[in-house]
Amino acid sequence: MSTETPLDLKKTINLPKTDFAQKANLAQSEPARLEKWTQLDLYRLIRRVGEGREKFIMHDGPPYANADIHLGTAMNKILKDFIIKSRTMMGYDTPYVPGYDCHGLPIETHVEKGLEKKGKKKADLSAETFRRICREHAENALKSQTRDFKRLGILGEWDNPYLTMSNHYEAETARMFARFVERGWVYKGARPVYWCIKDQTALAEAEVEYHQHTSPSVYVKFPLRSDPALIDPALAGRKVFVVIWTTTPWTLPANLGIAVHPDYEYSAFEHGDEVYIVASDLVESVAAKCDLGASPKVIARFQGSKLDRLECGHAWLDRPSLLMVGEHVTLGGEADAETELDVSEAQKKSDSKAGTGCVHTAPGHGHDDFVIGKKYGLEIYCPVDNAGRFTPEVEHFAGQRVFDANDPIVEFMRERGVLLFSEKYDHRYPHCWRCKNPVIFRATPQWFIAMDQAHSDLVEKDEDGRDRTNFTDNLPETPEKSLRGGALAAIERVNWIPGWGVDRMRNMLKGRPDWCVSRQRVWGVNIPVFYCAKCTEAVSDPAVINHVADIFERESGDAWYTHSAEELLPAGYACKCGTREFTKESDILDVWFDSGTSSIAVLENREELRWPADVYIEGGDQFRGWFNSSLMIGIAAHSQAPYKTVITHGWTLDAQGRAMHKSAGNAIEPEKVIKQSGAETIRLWCASSNYFDDMRASDEILQRVTDGYRKLRNTARFALGNLAGFDPARDTVPFEELEEIDRWALAELNRVITEVLAAYEAYEFHNVYRALFNFSTVTLSARYFDIIKDRLYTFAPRNKARRSAQTALLQIGDALARMLAPVLVFTADEIWENLPNREEPSIHLALFPKADAQSHDALLAEWEGLFAIRDDVLRALEEARVAKQIGSSLQAKVTLQASGSALELLQKHQNDLRYLFIVSHVELGNSTGGEGVSITISNADGEKCERCWNYSTRVGESEVYPTVCERCVAALKEIEQE
Ligand SMILES: [Zn+2]
Ligand SMILES: [Zn+2]
Ligand SMILES: [Zn+2]
Repeated sequence: MSTETPLDLKKTINLPKTDFAQKANLAQSEPARLEKWTQLDLYRLIRRVGEGREKFIMHDGPPYANADIHLGTAMNKILKDFIIKSRTMMGYDTPYVPGYDCHGLPIETHVEKGLEKKGKKKADLSAETFRRICREHAENALKSQTRDFKRLGILGEWDNPYLTMSNHYEAETARMFARFVERGWVYKGARPVYWCIKDQTALAEAEVEYHQHTSPSVYVKFPLRSDPALIDPALAGRKVFVVIWTTTPWTLPANLGIAVHPDYEYSAFEHGDEVYIVASDLVESVAAKCDLGASPKVIARFQGSKLDRLECGHAWLDRPSLLMVGEHVTLGGEADAETELDVSEAQKKSDSKAGTGCVHTAPGHGHDDFVIGKKYGLEIYCPVDNAGRFTPEVEHFAGQRVFDANDPIVEFMRERGVLLFSEKYDHRYPHCWRCKNPVIFRATPQWFIAMDQAHSDLVEKDEDGRDRTNFTDNLPETPEKSLRGGALAAIERVNWIPGWGVDRMRNMLKGRPDWCVSRQRVWGVNIPVFYCAKCTEAVSDPAVINHVADIFERESGDAWYTHSAEELLPAGYACKCGTREFTKESDILDVWFDSGTSSIAVLENREELRWPADVYIEGGDQFRGWFNSSLMIGIAAHSQAPYKTVITHGWTLDAQGRAMHKSAGNAIEPEKVIKQSGAETIRLWCASSNYFDDMRASDEILQRVTDGYRKLRNTARFALGNLAGFDPARDTVPFEELEEIDRWALAELNRVITEVLAAYEAYEFHNVYRALFNFSTVTLSARYFDIIKDRLYTFAPRNKARRSAQTALLQIGDALARMLAPVLVFTADEIWENLPNREEPSIHLALFPKADAQSHDALLAEWEGLFAIRDDVLRALEEARVAKQIGSSLQAKVTLQASGSALELLQKHQNDLRYLFIVSHVELGNSTGGEGVSITISNADGEKCERCWNYSTRVGESEVYPTVCERCVAALKEIEQE
């Protein structure tokens, strides 16, 4: 077509056009997109599309169904979603079944408080009614958490999550208990466990937290009753005392012995007419502390083993205190007192300098005390009741609460003359995770899972085939048959990310005592054990437990309360004494036993899942919690860990590295962030932080994330805007025919695809973010897009060179969207919608781009050289601009002098150079001497073209278009013909 009237120049510029808005408006657009996904039934659609593909199973650690979600909960779920979505896009069938932990103390406490407000007491209600209220509370809490998780863009089986309180789950929990019984690992016994005197229940290792606490530190002398000459002739006839040190004076009434290390050297030194025994290394410090002379006179030195089985008297009671030897004794202070399993806690403890090397031992109040007490045949003596009060048998202090009794005991000892020294002592001390009060170590009859018992095929059975109470504290001869041995072997076959996980788990497993699984509570799965009403024998029979589990399956665990023992037992069941009357165990199982069961109750029981899981990902507290209890269950069920890979993520902290608390005013609330700037901000923050460390968040940090988001969005928008009118089927230019710089851009894309896919594979989401952010801001925005703008805007729409740039842009936009999709779930989907001719109705049904196998190294290296020269030219242009020599870079002419390979490179790309530098002219010359390229900036010749703003000496040549340059004249002719 030819025209008499010239075209309106402004209308011939191809300005970007897209529905993909510059302003994201995420707070509004995200809910609309969620609605669209609901309409699509997107999660099911993804599953359908993935049918038949290889499975990848990430198993969800269930959050506690109590309070609303906080930033840490959000981060945990978002990281899981990154994994699910990225593995889906790698081509796996990746179901996600979320779970909720529903039983336990926090809900009970909450419900009790609610009752108190109404003037009611727990005791006024039947157990069934109380459990019903607990169940309703959990249901409400998990509903609101589900709403919040969905709002974060997390797709999953939200309408069918697993609940530890569902009938089936409760039944499976009971069946797992039967499995432990079957293995011969369950026993009832009195061992010291953490005990909260406020909540009046035993606590698991994972239910205590360490806080700073001030205790009285006391040095107390115990009179030696055995003949001192047995230790050393020099001590014959002397008044000898063994000096102990403790920070829990209230445990002294329960003292039954003193432990020393068999291999350490001990010294006896005199003060006045008395002789004191302490570890040789600590003579000076003890003498100084207790004011026993400036340079104590040592009269005998001997090995700790010399003291073995000699006898002291109790410091004030008429009762022996047995001298024993044990490897657990250290010279660093409290040898046991509290079992600390966390590595960092143990390190903190070893800094302590107090102590005597002679350890006060109360077998009813400490784990090591218990172990050595058992070995020496001491009673597991615990004269403290549920409420933490001394029982009536405790002389002088009966009825006093133990923490209140500390000071009176110290005063009492001072009056009796047995106290050598006391002071206040700050140390890390275990506290209840719920009520935050200091806990005690207390021996009560509890159900335990034995860590070191060889499993049942090696255990001798009595004539009735029962072996349950037969346990030993000594290591079995076949450790691999024990729970501890099996677990230690299994963790070596697990992939731990980061790698220190295996050390942490190993230490935790080596140090942990038998697992106390009973709780004196109501809201949980009851320990399905019966007691004979006549001979009190416990019935813990796997067949009976499985029978009860079937009832739980039909009626829920409430059946334990709504039915009598006879109704719950198999018909006609009788005790070996002949009785058919039984009572029911009233304790419930530790909630960690519940959640640990999930791999069996969920992975093994749902058709779309399988056991073991490919990956678990949780915070570092789960080494004592879910990683651990899941492992115990895995070993009991299948002698194998329930996970192949375990990933540990850090904590969410504020900008200064402090924990977030609402009361401290530094908490970032997900809900508030979502309202202000959308869930994408939280998701992008998760990806931008290295989650293997602690992750810091503050308003400023989130502002930086928002800025990063804007840059990514603008990059996508440029690609989308310039694809208007591009029909991939009609307009795509084959790779070999692309402009070289477009091929370069695709080579860079290929490189970033390789990098991003590797980072997803390694769960390194911060590297995904870094690679995509650098690609978007540096490679694309600062280089490629700037350079191709002229071609995209001023060439005729169908010009092949313009189609070449669009071909590259489509691939870039498409690949960017796919790579961003696991992180920016909403925005990537929005990009997807605005790309031409995408097949899938949502990006979440698409796969990751594939890096092509072809090597682009030569091309990339060549352009690396050109961009190095470009950086210098841009610097020179900037200087000229500052000096007001030029305005825009198009007003400039660049003259380059080069020689050798640099000149060759420039000559090869002579026609590209003006576009590369975004100037109107580039002149190239052969420099006579020296390396490098010399750059001269001058004013461009000719006049400014009205249409493309480049300068040209040929503006005015056309009569139809007197104000445009020769390039534009050609473009306009093309447009006229289109
Ligand atoms: Zn408590
Ligand atoms: Zn009986
Ligand atoms: Zn022009």
